[in-house]
Amino acid sequence: MATSSPNLSKKKLLLHWTLGGALLAILFIVVLSLFLANPSIRIMLVLVLASLAGAVTARFIYAIRSHKRLRHKIWLGFLTSFTVLLVFLSIKWKSLSDKGGQLRQEPFCIAGNLYYVGTNEMTSFLLTSAKGHILIDGGYPGNTDMIIKNIGILGFKITDVKILLNSHAHFDHAGGLAALQTASGAELWISEGDVDIIKAGGAGKRNLRLMNLLVYSGLVKYPAPRIDHRFKDGTKIRLDSIELTAHITPGHTPGCTSWAIPITDGNKKLLAVSIGSLTLIPSSLFGAKYDAELQKEFTQSFKTLRSLPADIFLASHASFFNMAGKIKARDTSTDRVEPFIDRDGYFNYIDNAEKKYQKEIKEQQLRQSKN
Ligand SMILES: [Zn+2]
Repeated sequence: MATSSPNLSKKKLLLHWTLGGALLAILFIVVLSLFLANPSIRIMLVLVLASLAGAVTARFIYAIRSHKRLRHKIWLGFLTSFTVLLVFLSIKWKSLSDKGGQLRQEPFCIAGNLYYVGTNEMTSFLLTSAKGHILIDGGYPGNTDMIIKNIGILGFKITDVKILLNSHAHFDHAGGLAALQTASGAELWISEGDVDIIKAGGAGKRNLRLMNLLVYSGLVKYPAPRIDHRFKDGTKIRLDSIELTAHITPGHTPGCTSWAIPITDGNKKLLAVSIGSLTLIPSSLFGAKYDAELQKEFTQSFKTLRSLPADIFLASHASFFNMAGKIKARDTSTDRVEPFIDRDGYFNYIDNAEKKYQKEIKEQQLRQSKN
């Protein structure tokens, strides 16, 4: 005798609440994601908004519950439009995520045989020689067309790229490596600490659980490239006249690498250093189990980077070394290389990163002592 049992009605109500809430939450996630460029901020923000949306929908469903016929029609209409919209937006979401909101950047020669071929924010550097080229970083998975086009604009060929390198194994720097490898036939060198993350297409033990979930779901997973060689701290990579040194600067990822590249420009001998990243991904979110490991890694990284006599300051993100400002300065400078010689900027970046890092660690210790 379950026709009008109050228990069943409660169950139905709960089902409507859950189903309605979940449907609208997903819709919100997809719609809002389209307007935000940075995948991590995008994910955080949409989750908060999705919870709010869920509550509102549940209230709506509760309100129409009492009108049985109307309720069925509304449900049918809602589900049909929702499904169509979801399919369309999911495709769009994936394609925009793959591009990471990147815009095209005109390629240029930084100094000597060192060229910029990346997007407006995700850097890619090309080192050229008579016997082939080396390319550092592949941006997001959807950035490879722009990188290949930039190499062509400079008069070089992607098929002449013999060696592929990486700053670190995150989606926004390693995402395009597989496609670049296919297009060039180049051999990829990966630092030992980042091998597992590269193989997993971005998933790693230190990622937030949510991030790993998104990687496994395929939404922010990048195609895993073939790893041809592994390297350690201090490894020198050589190709004809090019010789660059890998300095492992861990913390941001376990195998995060900064590249030291000697450049000859006219009669000038310069050292370009591209910093992997010194950004601490909030360690409290990793769980205390990695804290000691992280602290050791960051301490080593600050020391290593300070020991390098960098003339040209570069990094995995263009904003880290104010690339836009330097490109502007070149327009009015008589010397094309001079605006990129930035010894102070290099050390300031390390100092600021360390201050930020210390602040974060202190706050974290405070939180832990309160718990
Ligand atoms: Zn990163």
